[in-house]
Amino acid sequence: MKVNYHTHCYFCDGKGHPEEYVLEAISRGFSVLGFSSHAPIKEINDWTLTESNLPDYISSINELKVKYGKEIKIYLGLEIDYYPDENRVEKFKKFNLDYSIGSVHMVKPDGFNTYFSVDESDSTFAKVLNDVFGSIEAFSREYYKTLRALILQGGFNILGHLDLIRKFNKGNKYFNENEPWYREDVLKTLDLLKSRDIIVEVNTGALSRGVNDVPYPSPWILKECFNRGIKVCLNSDVHAPNNIECYFNEAKQIIKDCGYTQLHTPFEIIDL
Ligand SMILES: [Zn+2]
Ligand SMILES: [Zn+2]
Repeated sequence: MKVNYHTHCYFCDGKGHPEEYVLEAISRGFSVLGFSSHAPIKEINDWTLTESNLPDYISSINELKVKYGKEIKIYLGLEIDYYPDENRVEKFKKFNLDYSIGSVHMVKPDGFNTYFSVDESDSTFAKVLNDVFGSIEAFSREYYKTLRALILQGGFNILGHLDLIRKFNKGNKYFNENEPWYREDVLKTLDLLKSRDIIVEVNTGALSRGVNDVPYPSPWILKECFNRGIKVCLNSDVHAPNNIECYFNEAKQIIKDCGYTQLHTPFEIIDL
């Protein structure tokens, strides 16, 4: 059974109409496709929905549910960023979403009034690292602190790309994941997840875009998830229709190697 719950289309930062993703999914034998455009944020930006196109997004997905209902199950979702000063998951509940992904793409350290991107580009990452944090440990700690605050707030179904902080760390460019401070911070985050009904996604998005060559989260983290009984799903975080199942076979093998025999989504349990 093929499913994907992490899909971006032209309503946010993806390419193509949502219908193109539906047709691609059907042609590749998918049973389920979940749309998860980036929920609007207050700041002006070029990667999220806006308050004004959110209703169009919702009605487009709901129309596709009806049009292709006999061929594929379509779900309406959002990928929602954490803001410390408001419960954004609650805010979007009124749109009758089928599910949501909670993600951290930006951090706002104490004493700053602006958010800094974790995943925009390698050059932005290096600039934020040097100008704002001064060390990769401080940057990473702020990221995981924000992620734990998101987990504590809860209300969403899937935790997006758990270790996004290593997006530009190919070849250990910025740090080694074996460093005790990093392992300790990640494990503290997993211990918090353990008791909650949140699915961790294995996300192949960075591979399809050629930025990194290991799906999120790293295999050692996935193994620790398995040891804690944390459920996982597999998502492509697709931004162009033909990447809908990019690196799925390789990722499935990694998941199995970590001990898992099943994937859990908000609506299915799938044998690996
Ligand atoms: Zn994301
Ligand atoms: Zn995404």
